[in-house]
Amino acid sequence: MKVLVVNAGSSSLKYQLIDSDTEVVFARGICERIGQEGSEIDHRQLIKGVRYQKEMPMSNHADAMRIVVDMLTDPAFGCIGSMAEIDAVGHRVVHGGPFFVESVLVSPEVIKELEGCRDFAPLHTEAHLMGIKACLEVMPQVPEVLVFDTAFHRTMPEEAYFYPVSYDMYEKYKIRRYGAHGTSHRYVSGVMQDILAKAGKTKDTKIVTCHLGNGSSISAIRDGKVIDTSMGFTPLDGIEMGTRCGSIDPAIVTYIMDKKGFTPDRMNEYMNKECGFLGITGYNDARDIERAILAGPNAPPDPDNPRPDYYRARLCFSILHYQIKKYIGAYAAAMNGLDAIVFTAGIGENNPRLREEVCSGLSFLGIEIDKEANDRAVRQPNVLKLSTDTSKVFVYMIPTNEEIVIARDTAKIVSELGKK
Ligand code: ADP
Repeated sequence: MKVLVVNAGSSSLKYQLIDSDTEVVFARGICERIGQEGSEIDHRQLIKGVRYQKEMPMSNHADAMRIVVDMLTDPAFGCIGSMAEIDAVGHRVVHGGPFFVESVLVSPEVIKELEGCRDFAPLHTEAHLMGIKACLEVMPQVPEVLVFDTAFHRTMPEEAYFYPVSYDMYEKYKIRRYGAHGTSHRYVSGVMQDILAKAGKTKDTKIVTCHLGNGSSISAIRDGKVIDTSMGFTPLDGIEMGTRCGSIDPAIVTYIMDKKGFTPDRMNEYMNKECGFLGITGYNDARDIERAILAGPNAPPDPDNPRPDYYRARLCFSILHYQIKKYIGAYAAAMNGLDAIVFTAGIGENNPRLREEVCSGLSFLGIEIDKEANDRAVRQPNVLKLSTDTSKVFVYMIPTNEEIVIARDTAKIVSELGKK
């Protein structure tokens, strides 16, 4: 089945056309600055290895979707003869609120329920709705499926998802831990479970998955089910991130609002966009921070390639390493054991120093890192083992692949539809 995987943002639309049987990706691309001046498409046809980049007017997501279909069916840059070859569309949806616990087929009722998720992730939900409606407009005959980032976390027990605020907050406003990056945690933990099974461990598997990117979350996964995760009611909870503060004493929120005269919206913006790596160092990209640390405290300034202050860069990463270690330790306790740690996403897949720091601080769990293997695991497309053969816990780098999970779920739901 040919599945078009769509990830709609407020002014962007990312897509991949995937054969769900062979899991071959035919094409991928992104439309950016939709509804603005200078909107453009960057499209790659991966079988022929050709790329097409062009500024094209796109006043809304439906325009962008029409251009995507034109690209996919283009004789030179496309990979299918006509739109009829697209069997299904799978949408990435950031927040399923209290309603969605698994992937679903789009229907008018489902769209209504998704509209009810606006409160939980306003910008994302609005963008997803635009993406869904754009597909309905451009290819009304093609079934659409929604795959939620929150769904994999819905197996958490009460003690993990319930916040000790008054009970009515849960009843009235559905305040609870929902988590995020679920599709990524699901993919990498699935790969890790297969590896454990091959090593003879099939029962009571205990895995901690560390998705460390611009946004970061850590999950405890026992027997394939999430039992806890670091992101919470929103993706602001948990560890320090590129621009988000993660968990802080809640009293700091009202204290800063009072001192700075911030409204709730402004405070929300501050915590989401002006904290984390950016707040501490002035830079939100982990590569810049790493560069400052490697340059050392006495390196002369480089006006052509400015970098963060050494002391602040060190501080920023010390906090990060410490917090990741604390989560892994806590989750090992929550599961009463640990079989494997997985590192994934931009930082998890590419930062050997962070992985080494975190794991060497957990040697009491019997974790041993293979330094050479760990140092080699940078920008590698394949699953790599980072622990030694004598390590009591497996440590792996597993490149995440949320699109494959979306394509698989979409194909499953749509093929069942065909059987009815
Ligand atoms: P997002 O949450 O936006 O999907 P990513 O998973 O792409 O984020 O992660 C972005 C982070 O990963 C950035 O901080 C970036 O510095 C880091 N990163 C990406 N590639 C590398 C690399 N080759 N080496 C070190 N860090 C990297």
